[in-house]
Amino acid sequence: MSQRSTDRLSIARAAYQDVPLYDPKRSPVEIDLTDNTNLWGIPPRAEQVLRESLASVITRYPSLYAGELKSALAQYAGVSADMIVTGCGSDDVLDSAMRAFAAPGEHVVSSLPSFAMVPIFARMNDLEWTGVTETPDHAINVEAMLAEPSKVLYVCTPNNPTGAVTPLRTLRELASRCAGVLVIDEAYIEFGGEAATELVHEFDRVLLVRTMSKAFGLAGLRVGYAIGQPALVLEVEKSRGPYKVNALAERVATAALTHDMAWVQEHVALAIELRERLSAELRARGLNPIPSGGNFVCAAVPHCVAVGQAMRARGVAVRPFPDLPHIGDALRFSVGPWPLLERCLTAFDEARAEVGAP
Ligand code: PMP
Repeated sequence: MSQRSTDRLSIARAAYQDVPLYDPKRSPVEIDLTDNTNLWGIPPRAEQVLRESLASVITRYPSLYAGELKSALAQYAGVSADMIVTGCGSDDVLDSAMRAFAAPGEHVVSSLPSFAMVPIFARMNDLEWTGVTETPDHAINVEAMLAEPSKVLYVCTPNNPTGAVTPLRTLRELASRCAGVLVIDEAYIEFGGEAATELVHEFDRVLLVRTMSKAFGLAGLRVGYAIGQPALVLEVEKSRGPYKVNALAERVATAALTHDMAWVQEHVALAIELRERLSAELRARGLNPIPSGGNFVCAAVPHCVAVGQAMRARGVAVRPFPDLPHIGDALRFSVGPWPLLERCLTAFDEARAEVGAP
């Protein structure tokens, strides 16, 4: 992410002074293992609906709050449709939730390391953000997080970028003791960890945020959603505003949820199997990958930026995370079909040799 602050316009709001544009340095590359999307592609019925959609879908406005999609998501998640709010990606849902529950100047707390957009969304909404460093074994630091004032407390499980899973009992502890709204980001929940759906029935201030960008293979359509008690999701919906999920996205995502679950489950199972195989390959190279519940693997790799660049020169991109707390330099590898991971491992071996990394 770029820390550069843009030249200021005197008319711009003060809180935006240091808001950087999100810049994870993504340029086209033959094998892109940087963003944890579904490298097996789009599910079949979703693709068919996409191809067969008529121009008339696009010439009219979409539904106001994506009612059909909400019903399909409710069925998938095992809750009622009034417990769902959708958005233009879960990014939009997270941003809207912060705005719904925290007024300018109030506080957002998240664990470190975690999803890099959280402090950015906090800044975009003129909120104060505090990162609480995780424990050396990659668990969230519950007491330290609760000790910080917060209107929104954000936990990601499985966590991006480590892959670490937070147990349900820890989430319940946070939910029962935090003063504000507990936002649980379950972007990778299909790949591991326990879905916290029961907590939204137990607590009226727990919001689960999820996405169709990962397991469902629809990142480019931008469909995210959250699950919470009706009064809670209503506030997010107000903050989000109407027409945020476009008409094509609603149709295709609804088709995937209704007809493509076998494909999704098959590819989730494959991703889990290959995640373990990739981890074993990294261990065989003397690395110590963090046990992951996601569709990615994170491991400490000294000189991660140089190794990443040398891999990119060989047509394979992975995501470097320099100087993570308790970890140091690290690389995060998205999991995909094995031939891609084999190419990745070869590029990794060559890059480490070139850089002289231990
Ligand atoms: N949360 C986490 C933890 C993520 O890793 C991502 C995507 N990288 C998102 C949310 C946002 O996903 P999207 O906006 O595509 O739904």
